[in-house]
Amino acid sequence: MKIDVLTLFPEMFEGVFSSSILGKAQEKGLLQLGTVNFRDYANNKHNTVDDYPYGGGGGMVLKPEPIFTAVEELTSVLEQRPRIILMCPQGEPFTQRKAEELSREKHLIFICGHYEGYDERIREHLVTDELSIGDYVLTGGELPAMVVIDSVARLIPGVLGNETSAVTDSFSTGLLEYPHYTRPAKFRDWEVPDILISGHHGNIKDWRRKQSLLRTWKKRPDLLEHAVLTEEERRWLEEQKAKEAVRQRSEGHE
Ligand code: SAM
Repeated sequence: MKIDVLTLFPEMFEGVFSSSILGKAQEKGLLQLGTVNFRDYANNKHNTVDDYPYGGGGGMVLKPEPIFTAVEELTSVLEQRPRIILMCPQGEPFTQRKAEELSREKHLIFICGHYEGYDERIREHLVTDELSIGDYVLTGGELPAMVVIDSVARLIPGVLGNETSAVTDSFSTGLLEYPHYTRPAKFRDWEVPDILISGHHGNIKDWRRKQSLLRTWKKRPDLLEHAVLTEEERRWLEEQKAKEAVRQRSEGHE
């Protein structure tokens, strides 16, 4: 996969792109990451990329010309137009499903905004997707683009050393992941659940699935609305909820 990022701050990507999984993915030849400073495409003598908003009001707006020209130069040699993703707090909320979808693409272009926002014609006539990483506002699109690129890259086949680790991650299954433990088996007074050292793979798998269900119900019950559960699992979960309600009543916090 090839990923190009349009940004006014390419230096922000240096550490992230050369470290850990992203660095290794490039060394393995599975990923090609690049940045383009769209200030280089400004068509005025002061290299200005922003201007005052029509209609007045505070903040500066990113001009359309440098961003259109930079994207057109990147795509002019391509047969197929790649996905062009605008990082934007008003965009579609980014999810693991979206990361899976994007990880199947060959080429992605990210546009990182700054200041008050973009000229609306970029949104209307250039991009294919608008993505938000959450309901809060950051100074620029660089950190959001890094978040999306990291989560997409780790899903490209061969990027993670252990192929199964992304499969059981939270959200991949529609549920939160089960708890993990490692050595020592007893740390201070806290012991690892017996079942995990029993060596019985079937029971361990069953325990993990149930822990996933319980965790999701306690921490993110909204996910259960769309998760694929068997009838037996639904029944088991209802029993746990009933038990918990009894326990809470007996402790006096209805
Ligand atoms: N005035 C804009 C608004 O209210 O929607 C916010 C502009 S923000 C200060 C500047 C840039 O940061 C945005 O253009 C976008 O690229 C990026 N950004 C900020 N928060 C973001 C978020 N939650 N998700 C994705 N990008 C974000």
